[in-house]
Amino acid sequence: MMLKGDIMTYSERVLADLKERYPEQPQFIQAATEVLETIQPALDAHPEYEEAALLERLVEPERVIIFRVPWIDDEGKVQVNRGYRVQFNSAIGPYKGGLRFNPTVTLGMLKFLGFEQTFKNSLTTLPMGGGKGGSDFDPKGKSNNEIMRFCQSFITELYRHIGEDTDVPAGDLGVGGREVAYMFGQYKRLTNTFTGVLTGKGLTFGGSLARTEATGYGLVYYVDEYLKCHDDSFEGKTVVVHGSGNVATYAIQKVEQLGGKVVACSDTKGWVYDTDGIDVSALEAIYNRKRSGNDKGVSLAMYTEFRPNAEWHAEDGRGVWGVPCDIALPCARENTLLLEDAEKLVANGCKVVGEGANMPTTLDATKYLQDNGVAFFPGKAANAGGVATSGLEMSQNAGHISWTFEEVDSRLESIMRGIYHACDDAAKEFGLEGNYVAGANIAGFLKVAEAMMAQGVI
Ligand code: NAP
Repeated sequence: MMLKGDIMTYSERVLADLKERYPEQPQFIQAATEVLETIQPALDAHPEYEEAALLERLVEPERVIIFRVPWIDDEGKVQVNRGYRVQFNSAIGPYKGGLRFNPTVTLGMLKFLGFEQTFKNSLTTLPMGGGKGGSDFDPKGKSNNEIMRFCQSFITELYRHIGEDTDVPAGDLGVGGREVAYMFGQYKRLTNTFTGVLTGKGLTFGGSLARTEATGYGLVYYVDEYLKCHDDSFEGKTVVVHGSGNVATYAIQKVEQLGGKVVACSDTKGWVYDTDGIDVSALEAIYNRKRSGNDKGVSLAMYTEFRPNAEWHAEDGRGVWGVPCDIALPCARENTLLLEDAEKLVANGCKVVGEGANMPTTLDATKYLQDNGVAFFPGKAANAGGVATSGLEMSQNAGHISWTFEEVDSRLESIMRGIYHACDDAAKEFGLEGNYVAGANIAGFLKVAEAMMAQGVI
């Protein structure tokens, strides 16, 4: 905290300006605070960055595109949503990042995600810049035809701003394989080209094996590398997971493959407790029914139909944080692990928290976990497996080849284990051993900063 009379550091000045300029974008400010508060040691080592106003440039997106998305619902009524693409930083490669379709989407939310993505993509070691986009469209409860018409309208505007060497979107909340396929089809129709312009595609038209599993698997490979370096493993560990979507499901599967047991997970309607270990095939069946569009009202409550001995709690899914565990994996969405949850985790003996979602842990909860000896792995490092595999999908598309599941999975595993070491090494180099938030931010930042410096004032 700054005291009166203290001289502000470079990062503090930039953060103060940002807070003043964008008071209506709290999530972006939260993400920027986390990064700027930890990279000052790297800035001290590179005084030339301040002269080049590098941070002032880094915190502003290179370009923001906002557009209307008109579409016609099944009753023949015209609906209008807002579409966005935040092209944050292209210093190290074409913009890359998902599209989120959710009624809570705002420009501030996408700026937070695009900013995070810049550092995450840098950590993957692949040549990808940072971007994010989406719409306040709510896919829940929409028919398949409505989803298709919306996706076609969305891409009819966005297509002119993206391309395999310019900006390569993918999925995120509310955007899975079905939505990516509709957008890809419309892009192909409008441009008369068949390119790797979107990732997360179906396997019959350029998608990569293991992309579906990649974020969840990658998270667990990352945590496993930490455990391995501390003469430990997942064997016999009790794990709780927040969420039961794409990231959560495949994190649970990998934990179970590595000998751990996941006893709780959640959705927006509540959470399940299954002392026998969560059944991934039940989660997949529920997920598919949720996304079929014809089965309104499906929730994780259905889990007990598959596993009658499990308990269903129809209350805030954050109830999972009260379940005693060794390892906690927040895999739902931002700001879903609060200070009071962190206190429960620590009191119950949790030793590791790995973020599968983007920014699920609030700043005060992160600090509490770190101060209480919990190994805390931020999403920008621990969930980078999804975008890393999207990068591998781009490589396969560009080379007109496709790799086997095993080949992609083994590249993913080595990327994730490498990211753990990059974060650990950076933290050690700057005297912050054990602070994986600082390690991830510094390692991700330095590569982007070097590229920006080399390319001049742009
Ligand atoms: P998903 O398949 O849509 O699953 C999201 C899960 O979170 C669902 O179980 C959902 O419940 C739950 N959820 C949504 N809003 C919630 C809220 N306000 N409170 C509590 N739970 C909520 O999404 P996903 O692809 O797994 O993504 C999850 C997170 O990981 C997001 O932060 C995303 O940005 C991040 N991420 C994803 C990838 C990827 O490859 N998919 C890569 C990197 C990061 P309902 O089913 O009831 O809605």
